Amino acid sequence: MNKSLRRAVIAGNWKMNNTRPAATTLIGELLSLVSGAGCDVIACVPFTALESALAATGGSNLKIGAQNCHWAASGAFTGEISAPMLAELGIGHVIIGHSERRQYFGETDQTVNTRLRAALDAGLTAILCVGETLDQREQNITEEICALQTKVALAGVSEHELKRIIIAYEPVWAIGTGKTATAQQAGEACGFIRSVVAGLYSQTTADTLTIQYGGSMNAGNAAELLAMPDIDGGLIGGASLKAADFAAIVKAASL
Ligand code: PEP
Repeated sequence: MNKSLRRAVIAGNWKMNNTRPAATTLIGELLSLVSGAGCDVIACVPFTALESALAATGGSNLKIGAQNCHWAASGAFTGEISAPMLAELGIGHVIIGHSERRQYFGETDQTVNTRLRAALDAGLTAILCVGETLDQREQNITEEICALQTKVALAGVSEHELKRIIIAYEPVWAIGTGKTATAQQAGEACGFIRSVVAGLYSQTTADTLTIQYGGSMNAGNAAELLAMPDIDGGLIGGASLKAADFAAIVKAASL
């Protein structure tokens, strides 16, 4: 376990929030606040705001990502957006398998795998989300669920391609609920996911994989979570919509 082998990544997931003008304003506020960040900083914005967000961040250290992509490059998939479409826009990152996609849009471990494959094929870096529900934690099967989701998602992904994957451990019960996993719970789960990746590839590769925690991370709890040896950053929902709060988390990850 060696944190110095990994770069911390703080990513905001704006979800279905912010019109183009609102996105441009929020990004304008963020730019100066995160310009000296000692970690990578990404804002994953709605599809409609991608182009404006890219224009507003040009030449800065704030990267823009998307929140989903389809598994096919093109075709009869009404309402979907493909990975090559994102790449052509100049987008470098995409969230794959967020629990809200699994919960509300029928995303399965298999579709997460195919979407991840599409993202990699288009040259994108994927933020792959895994994590257990409250029922699963209470049944004591957190590790089984995280292992299964990680293994199915990474099927067919080469060791080399893993360099373009960030895993976000996001316990479903902590997302948007204000209930944060304790630093110990989050650290243990991230460490466990790293051990699964070590088993699939090698310890050396697992040691270089960035694993984020996500679930009600905020300005008040970020430092304690980010101090855990296996937590290399955060995927931030609610707190990414307020520039000062998001910047405080970026600062905590930059220490
Ligand atoms: C998320 O959407 O990935 C997330 C972690 O949300 P929140 O920070 O609001 O819990």
